[in-house]
Amino acid sequence: MKLIQTAVGRSLLLGLITLVMILGLSRGAIAKIASWSSGVPPILISQSNEDSSASAQSIRQPVMLRGMPLPEPPFPEPILPGATPFWAGTTTSPSGYVPRQESAPAHPTNYGERFTQDANGRNVSNDLIVVIHETVGSASSAINTFQTPHPRDEDQVSYHSLIKQDGTVVYIVPPEMRAFGAGSSVFEGANGSETVQTNPAFASSVNNFAYHTSLESPADGRGNSRGHSGYTEAQYQSLAWVVAQTHVANQRITTHQAVDRSGTRRDPRSFNAQRFIELLNTY
Ligand SMILES: [Zn+2]
Repeated sequence: MKLIQTAVGRSLLLGLITLVMILGLSRGAIAKIASWSSGVPPILISQSNEDSSASAQSIRQPVMLRGMPLPEPPFPEPILPGATPFWAGTTTSPSGYVPRQESAPAHPTNYGERFTQDANGRNVSNDLIVVIHETVGSASSAINTFQTPHPRDEDQVSYHSLIKQDGTVVYIVPPEMRAFGAGSSVFEGANGSETVQTNPAFASSVNNFAYHTSLESPADGRGNSRGHSGYTEAQYQSLAWVVAQTHVANQRITTHQAVDRSGTRRDPRSFNAQRFIELLNTY
């Protein structure tokens, strides 16, 4: 039965790919269709979680994110005190806000697979967290960096998405992949300290279970100052929209500064967490 299904699936897929070629779509589009058809869950980190709770299901299938152009990263205090989860919520706001969206795929050296086992062979199945960053430099220079091949492990960097000053959402790494958005880092939440070491040569980090999204810093935030003039209303609107699509519970939304253990990260500076949460809670 399974063989028959597979054979039927393959011929359907072949037919689909032929159709796409006839229509003159790019090789990238074909690869996307092929990967959608493969049946691989988009978020691999929940694979070993046998009891498939509603929340785990939501993590595995961030439907909106999968449909996006690129289908596919309290120790200081949590930024969202007392916030409630929104697993069952919808992913559209009553305001109907939908950001402009673009793709700028990272070079494959700058991201990897999410691991189901850590460097010591232990199974890992952390739920997803969202980590909010800022670019410090311009969006275009950040994208440039992510699209530059980095053969040396220590140079590899990426976010899953970034949000330009005009509110445009740029997809960089597919959400089911592991973006390299944080170095040494730990998430302190209801489940205690969460961090995963995937490479014995590097400190453990949250990357294996993080969705990393970053706000483009304003022009007066390009240096290392303590703060700057902040982010645009369009950026807060788009950030809330992006985070809502991940279905991550509010108490698992954090900042780079909060998870950082290198002692060097303070982003996002001048972030209005209250405005963000207000918008997020409309979803
Ligand atoms: Zn950061």
